[in-house]
Amino acid sequence: VTLSVAAILAESAKRHRDLPAVTVNGQSTSYGQLWEETRAYAGALRNQGIGESDRVAVLIPNVTDFARVYYAILSLGAVVVPIHALLKRNEISYVLEDSGTKLLVCAAPLLGEGAAGALNSGIDTLSVLAPVELGSTRLEDLAAQAEPIDTYLPRKPEDIATILYTSGTTGKPKGALGTHIALVEQTNTLLLDTIDMRRGDRLFGGLPLFHTFGQTTVLNAGLRVGAEIMLLPKFTAEGALDLVLDEDINIFFGVPTMYVALLEAGKKRSESPKNLRFAISGGASLPVSILSAFEERFGAPIHEGYGLTETSPVACFNHVGRTPQPGTVGTPIWGVDVEIADPAYPDSIKLLPRGELGEIVVRGHNLFAGYLNRPEATKEAVVDGWFRTGDLGTKDEDDYVRILDRTKDMILRNGYNVYPREVEEVLISHPEISNAAVYGIPHETHGQEIAASVTLQVGSTLDAKAIQTWISEQIAAYKYPRIIEIVQEFPLGPSGKILKRELVAKHSDK
Ligand code: ATP
Repeated sequence: VTLSVAAILAESAKRHRDLPAVTVNGQSTSYGQLWEETRAYAGALRNQGIGESDRVAVLIPNVTDFARVYYAILSLGAVVVPIHALLKRNEISYVLEDSGTKLLVCAAPLLGEGAAGALNSGIDTLSVLAPVELGSTRLEDLAAQAEPIDTYLPRKPEDIATILYTSGTTGKPKGALGTHIALVEQTNTLLLDTIDMRRGDRLFGGLPLFHTFGQTTVLNAGLRVGAEIMLLPKFTAEGALDLVLDEDINIFFGVPTMYVALLEAGKKRSESPKNLRFAISGGASLPVSILSAFEERFGAPIHEGYGLTETSPVACFNHVGRTPQPGTVGTPIWGVDVEIADPAYPDSIKLLPRGELGEIVVRGHNLFAGYLNRPEATKEAVVDGWFRTGDLGTKDEDDYVRILDRTKDMILRNGYNVYPREVEEVLISHPEISNAAVYGIPHETHGQEIAASVTLQVGSTLDAKAIQTWISEQIAAYKYPRIIEIVQEFPLGPSGKILKRELVAKHSDK
């Protein structure tokens, strides 16, 4: 059996040749054109010595070149190592070295950090659309002279297609190995019975494509079905709002911080989207109050899903055919088992009965093939064929899964377990609080103390003391935050999630 993620574009180019595949700043590239340019890029990469199983790093924002370079590498049977666009040179060097990358393809605006990172690691750099004086070779120029490849190289199902570094919200990044079968099967499953995405749909393309969420649900699923991806090179709330209102987006994709930002920006314009059918949220928990506010302002429901880089990423979703249950992440996707295991047994999987709280474990066609160069970490994460997610949750009689929190984010204060997510939900339900992050900081007598950072709605004059008084009347004394700070903005990771580790570190420095 052979297959390839590259078939997604190659086959769609036959089926949807003249339809727009990708649009950036009003400029569209059709499916036929995109595949032709991809084959030329692949020809150029082949001339650079890239072939089967070689690793090629990609440091490109959400522009058409990301798609060209991504599928060109995969067409050659080589492995894509996407690099987060916000990384600094030392972090880039780490990924290049850890992944054993042979060549870095870097977009012009990112060449400063990219080339410096590559130089440290002693690897070659090619750039796309780079000014020549920066000293690197332009892939576009090489492609103009190269013989395009005929078609993509078939792969074995378990061959590696991508190495995605988990963004490290919780530690040093690890390279998750994505197989061709997991990525293709995930794409087909999402389209067949999970997400109602159709040929010709216009998709919001503001989720970073270097991250698993955008790469699978927007890029691969979108191109597989013949949709048009409306890319936003850099996410801003205003840019997103303009796309949603002026470009007739049918499906919006975002992480919760994007929904918060979009709601705020949405106050500045009064129109409603014309044909927005629904929106998809994942990556972090979506407060129910944000879900309702979005539906009210933009007239479309949000379907929440759950997953990780290691599960390609979707494991659960509020499927199109089933009633979305706000506050849950839906039910397991087709062919994937999601269960709750007893966290007290790290070396074996002991499944718990329905309704009980434990660690979420996942098994199925969407699992990664392990962490690159880290057999110990892989052994800890994959036990008896189940992937231990490190998230705490429950599954009810109807298979709906609820996420309580990450095991590592749980706060232990005076012997009581406090789940930050629950406290965040309460904080965000206050009409003047726009977003909140709750976390534990080390404390001499309590073990940990509960702290919260909040952002306020524009024009609010709330102060920390007023918030404290209010929340102490809403939830039990052992749960409410004793330290509250009002911030202008949160430190965000590359995929747009709040970096709690930085908030904790800020307190420890004091
Ligand atoms: P790292 O895994 O290194 O900490 P990361 O957050 O970037 O970094 P991802 O693979 O992007 O890693 O994210 C997976 C995590 O995101 C899950 O383990 C879970 O904690 C969280 N998550 C994803 N979807 C949801 C959701 N719907 N509700 C709550 N949490 C979610």
